[in-house]
This record gives sequence, structure tokens and C-alpha cells, in this order.
Amino acid sequence: MPSFRLSALALALILSPAYAEQATPAKPASEITRERNQAWLQRLPFSDRADFDNARRGLIEPFGGVVENAEGQPVWNRMAYNFLDGNDAPASVNPSLWRIAQLNNISGLFEVRERVYQVRGMDLSNMTIIEGDSGLILIDPLISTETARAGLELYYKHRPRKPVLAVIYSHSHVDHFGGVRGVIDEADVKAGKVQVIAPGGFYEHAVSENVLAGPAMMRRAQYMYGSLLPRDERGQVDAGLGKGTPSNATVTLIAPNVLIAEALETRNIDGVEIEFQLTPGTEAPAEMNMYFPQFKTLCMAENATHTQHNVLTLRGALVRDSKVWAHYLDDALVRYGDKAEVLFAQHHWPTWGGNEIRDYLADQRDMYAFLDSQTLRLINQGLTPTEIAARLQSLPPRLASKWYSRDYYGSLSHNVRAVYQRYMGFYDGNPANLDPLPPEDAGQRYVAAMGGADAVLQNARQAFGAGDYRWAAQLLNHLVFAEPDNAAARELQADTLEQLGYQSENATWRNVYLSGALELRQGVAEARARNGAPDMIRALTPSMFFDYLAVRIDAMKAADEDLLINWRFSDLDEDYALTLRNGVLTQRKGARHAQADVDLSMTKALLDRIALKETGFLKEATIGGIEFESGRLKLLKLLGGLDEANPQFNLVTP
Ligand SMILES: [Zn+2]
Repeated sequence: MPSFRLSALALALILSPAYAEQATPAKPASEITRERNQAWLQRLPFSDRADFDNARRGLIEPFGGVVENAEGQPVWNRMAYNFLDGNDAPASVNPSLWRIAQLNNISGLFEVRERVYQVRGMDLSNMTIIEGDSGLILIDPLISTETARAGLELYYKHRPRKPVLAVIYSHSHVDHFGGVRGVIDEADVKAGKVQVIAPGGFYEHAVSENVLAGPAMMRRAQYMYGSLLPRDERGQVDAGLGKGTPSNATVTLIAPNVLIAEALETRNIDGVEIEFQLTPGTEAPAEMNMYFPQFKTLCMAENATHTQHNVLTLRGALVRDSKVWAHYLDDALVRYGDKAEVLFAQHHWPTWGGNEIRDYLADQRDMYAFLDSQTLRLINQGLTPTEIAARLQSLPPRLASKWYSRDYYGSLSHNVRAVYQRYMGFYDGNPANLDPLPPEDAGQRYVAAMGGADAVLQNARQAFGAGDYRWAAQLLNHLVFAEPDNAAARELQADTLEQLGYQSENATWRNVYLSGALELRQGVAEARARNGAPDMIRALTPSMFFDYLAVRIDAMKAADEDLLINWRFSDLDEDYALTLRNGVLTQRKGARHAQADVDLSMTKALLDRIALKETGFLKEATIGGIEFESGRLKLLKLLGGLDEANPQFNLVTP
């Protein structure tokens, strides 16, 4: 029997492994990087300190400590970022990024207005606490139970200890629900004492977005959030939306018992009137804004934050629709622009004042509309993705000068390429690019054509010396992929990516550049065992499970294995007819094959336990936890040959 593992259901939760604490081998900023970073001080209105005033407004108690898990491991360490406070940007950090890194450092409990509080800077996201007549309504309980509980305790230190009566998930991303078991008990939800409210489609999207490409997204998320980098001025300073993601954290999910289904829906929860505005297909597939008429307060979920957000995130995802995004921002402006006195989101700090709110919403709308229409305009002139990114170097000046339109999380450069991808796909229309050689083959030929490794290195050193870092990176990439053991090439490529990172305004760009440099120097760190997320596993439907199974079948190896499988989940009373044919597994829900090669029955609960490694498929098939009518050995053979995802694949080397 081959090694038998059915359980590697990795979900791409944006969780960090513990990051490096030791001194980094990172190098200083070059003189050219120093000068370029210095030039940013003239480019943007740094004397405008309104964001700092807003980020501090209503501060009740700052948070400057460490949140630990039950084993005493650090989950969230705000102190790791003390180096940012009170200091000017060093040469190794873009001053605009340094500025938002300082803003995101302003953390603790804040009063937004009477009866509306926020916990900020205790996780990547914010937790908003609304005081109802007799209890609390929480919006978005952070990523982890540990940080959510600590945040709520910080609130209780200053306000009456009233029970949580409702939790609202603003959208389907894990930083907006993962800590839910830290603030409520599922038994109270089942007993009807606590409402869990979410936009329609939330539950499916909360898990499905992270499943099929989960292992690869997880790997790329390490780069995007700079999880493996030390926290210092040559390492990770921020993640754009907040400081970063928690480590060693417990991620949970309680299914909502109230789904918002209408485009606009008003509910009264514990004396608080809330108008829900569904915004499907914006920043997340299931998302909603909320307006609180009594408080003249608008919650924009994650649809309007103090950055240009991602049309496509660097960790990988399905591309978003910036046109729809702009449409819903305009809708919010029309509905609430003349009413709201304060606007907050589930990242960053609030905006106070009607004029400020109207400008903010209109500017954000224009920004996402710009991405869509201007990319399309250039597509129709025949420009390709990199050409469009080169042409659209900036938003129109007035918009570009607004801090909340800057490239901290998304970027103009990668967002316009994402819009291209949405409309046109991977092919740029040039037949020379239709069937390119893969990187190792191309690298070997480029290196030979350029006169060998030494000649490439010499060229790259010249480019590096001249500050032409983007070109140096392209040249060296060919050499590293042709000769991955060429130490000089790796080192110079690391130095090059590092300078690009130091110059980036965008936190996620900086993080990916510096992560690449780190791995070129130190190699790829071993995969570490990650905390399971049992709630997420349980939330997988059988269909999602079978989809994931299909992804793990190597079609060429299984090409001759024709199998008809009837797979029943007795506790759900659900049948699935699976067909393995031509190496691919397809499924029909609610169907059975008339004559199957394999016929089995088990509970979904047992499948969850297998996925959580509490027991094994083989064991259960042997002891009768899984009941076979027929075909036991055939199925075991199939499952025994499943492909394993590589959790720590190479990115900067072949
Ligand atoms: Zn978020």
C-alpha cells in the first residue's frame, strides 16, 4: 500500500508562521535607493497630518503588548513594531509606506462616536463594537480567537460588561470572521440568544475561496504578508491594510443564522437600526455595507479603506470587478453621502465630516472606475498588460495626491494588469508570446546568447550599479533559472530584489521582494505544521471535498482507471455519483450510478475527522467506519495514489 494520506486539506488562511527573530543578513539601502526614497518627500503632501489626527481620535487605551495563545506562544506582538514610532523614514523604507506603517501602528480601543467603538491594530483587521440597548453588536471578530478575545476584554476594561447579542460578518474573508469563537459561544447561537448575521452566500465563499488553490495561495501569502521576514527597517514594516497577520492563531467559524438576502434590508437589533446594503462581487464575493441611521454612521466594510485595494491580490485569487466595485461605492455615496457624519471601515481609521465622507467615497469610486475604464481604453488601442502598467504610471494628479488612493495594498501597476486579465486573459495577442519557453529553458538560452554566465553577471552588475534594478532583476532571473547554484547570481539577485523592496510604496510589493531576497540567501524554510481550522474543514461541503480530490489526481497516472463510484453520506442523506474517466474525477450530486465499481457509505462527520487527521481513511475502511458494498480495494488504490501539494515550493529559483 502506498503512503496513504487523504488529510492534507490545506486552506489558504492568511496565517503567518512565526517570523524570524534573529538579525537579518539584509543589506543597507544603496545611495540611489536613498535618493529615490528621499524624492518622495516632495511628491506627496506629508505636511497634511489629518490622518494621524483621525487615527488617534477617540483613543481610550492604546494597545502596546503581546497577545498569546493558550500555550503561551505569541499570536500578536505590537511591540515588534515599536521601531516605527516617532522616527523619520530610514533610507530602506519608502516614506509613503513608512507613513502608513506609522498610522497602522496606532492601536488600541477607540470611541468612534457615542455607542460605537473600535478595536484597531490588534490584528490585521478592526473589530467594531456597537452598544445596543441591552447588549453588544460586534462587526467582524478579527482573524483569531486570541486577538478577538483580547480586543473585547480591552473594551470591557472601560465599558459595562454587557453580553454580545449579535455578530455581523461584513464579508467572507477570514480576517473578518476567524476569531468568532473568542467572543461568542455557538451554543448561544443555536439557542437563539445570539444572532450571527452575514451577507447572502457568505458561508460557501468563506471556505470555497481558499480550498482548490489553497496550498499555493498559502505559500504566496507568506511572501505577500512578509510572514518570514524580521520586523525591522530592513524587513517587514507593514502589510498595507494593517500590520500583518497573527501567528500560532486559532481560526474559527460559526455559521450565520441570519442571512441578508435583499439588496437593501433594514433590521432592528437590540434597539439599533441597521440598513444593510449588499455589495456582491466587490472586494469579496459576499460583502455588505451598513448604515446606522440613529448614529448617522456608515460602515463601508472593506469596500473603502485608506489605500487602493486589490483587484487581484498577489497571493492569487479570482480577479475582482473594479467596475462593480465603483458602482456600489457610488450607490453608497448616493444613499448615505448626505446623511453620514462618520464613516468607518473594517481596516484603518474612520473619516469624520460630511464633506470629507463625500470626497472620500467619490474619490474611491473614481479610483476603481479609473482602473476599469482606462485599462480598457488602452486595451482597445492595442496595449498589452506590461505596456498598460508602464503607461498608467499614476492616477490623475488630484486623485493621486489623496493618501487613501495610494498603493499600499493594491497597486496601480498590478491592478491594471488584473483588469486586463479579467477582460482579455493570459494571452497578449502577440503570437511570439503564444508558446514561450518555460523559465529554465529560456534562461539557459538567454545566458548562452548573452555570452555565458560571467557576461550576464557583468551586465547585471552594471545595471545594479546604475540603479536599473528592474532590468537587473530580469537579467539575473534568467541566470538563476539557468544556474540555480550560481552563488554570485543568487546573491546579486537578492541584493537587487532588496533594493526594489526598499523603494516600494506598496507594502505587499516590499514584502514579496524582501521575501524573495531572503530565500535567495537562505533557501526555503522547512514547512511547519500549521494549526488546523476544524470549523473550516467542517464547513466544506461534500462537493467541495470531491472537487479538491479531483485536483489531487494525477491524470496521466490514472488515465486507464475507469471507475464509477457511488458515495453516500448517511448523516446528510446525500448521494454522489463520481466518475473517474480519462484521469479526471467528476461528480453528480443527488445521483447514483446504476452499476458502480465502488459503492460506499459513511458520515460527513467521519470525513471531517479524517480530514482533521483524527483518524485515517484506511483505518476506517478496515474497521467498518466506512461501509463498502463493493470496490473497497479499488478506491483505496485510487486514494493511495493521490498527489501531495508542495507546501513550500520554490518561487525565486527553479
Ligand atoms: Zn480584511
